[in-house]
Amino acid sequence: MLGLAGIAQGLSFRFLDPSPEAPAAAVGTLVTGALDDPAALDEVAQGAAVVTYEWEGVPADSASHLVAKAHTVAPGIRALEVSQDRAAEKALFQSLGIPTATVANIDSRAELDAAVAAIGVPAVLKTRRGGYDGKGQHVLRAPADVDAAWAALGGVPLIYESFVAFRRELSIVAARAADGTTACWPVVENAHRDGILHVTRAPAPGWTPALQAAAERIGVGVLAALDFVGVGCVELFQTDDALVANELAPRVHNSGHWSIEGAQTSQFENHLRAILGRPLGSTASRGVSAMVNCLGSMPDTDAVLAIEGAHLHDYGKASRPGRKVGHVTLTAENDAALAPRLAALLAVIDG
Ligand code: AMP
Repeated sequence: MLGLAGIAQGLSFRFLDPSPEAPAAAVGTLVTGALDDPAALDEVAQGAAVVTYEWEGVPADSASHLVAKAHTVAPGIRALEVSQDRAAEKALFQSLGIPTATVANIDSRAELDAAVAAIGVPAVLKTRRGGYDGKGQHVLRAPADVDAAWAALGGVPLIYESFVAFRRELSIVAARAADGTTACWPVVENAHRDGILHVTRAPAPGWTPALQAAAERIGVGVLAALDFVGVGCVELFQTDDALVANELAPRVHNSGHWSIEGAQTSQFENHLRAILGRPLGSTASRGVSAMVNCLGSMPDTDAVLAIEGAHLHDYGKASRPGRKVGHVTLTAENDAALAPRLAALLAVIDG
């Protein structure tokens, strides 16, 4: 999607991916190699105006390798390091005065027992590194769950988090230019299924300027603290009286995919504008949107396209249970017009 947005801007791309079947090959030259292979990194970066990443699992050492060779890497190394470590991420939020769950770092069974006693249950035990889409997590509902949680995850650095009794999950996606200029898309509401993003509503139903301002303070504050250049996302829990930060994604985000059709400028175009030092485009929404992920396999194309306002994105990936293989964005003038379209789309995708 970055490549598609960039071609329209007159850009060309080389992509590094471990798989020779990476869909990016359709929109640029594919370099097949490991993300920590110095020769592959040198090949993909050679002559490039800028190097970027769209996965937070890219080793920070790979970014350092390229910076050491005088390449410009945006959003940068620190954003990778922080977002790869849940403890560092929570510490950053807290240092900025942003509310988070109550957290404790866990490196031993004794520390877990102490955290269960101090923080209580319900709570979530998570691996500090490598978790995504609900993987590497174990929910403790009672103190007796501690054995099972330790058996499932013990042995690697962990974090113990109080369970946030949220009303709903939101996210704020923001673009930040090198001169510190920022532009945020409207706050969106995210519904998950089995820990994987299922539906994003943009703007979040019940959106208010006050909600937007509160989310922007968090999103802009985090990106500024990281001297971030490009598009990033902060995932939030909305409780009865606050926004609580959960995670930072240092990249274009699934909850921003709706912006391709639903905003004046998509997250992909603005990411490229930001990292190339070009002016950012307007992040204002065009009407209202809903984005539904296609998980496992693609739905029937004609059935989707028969729905008014539907825009189909097929990533060209092989089917696999739970895999994000595409998404559909629905656009409409208002919530009343969107509702029947979303019901029809969910019937097609889930049916
Ligand atoms: P994460 O990998 O941290 O984004 O967690 C995946 C999902 O688990 C989140 O989107 C929430 O639905 C849920 N979750 C994670 N941490 C917490 C928490 N501390 N309290 C409540 N729900 C959580």
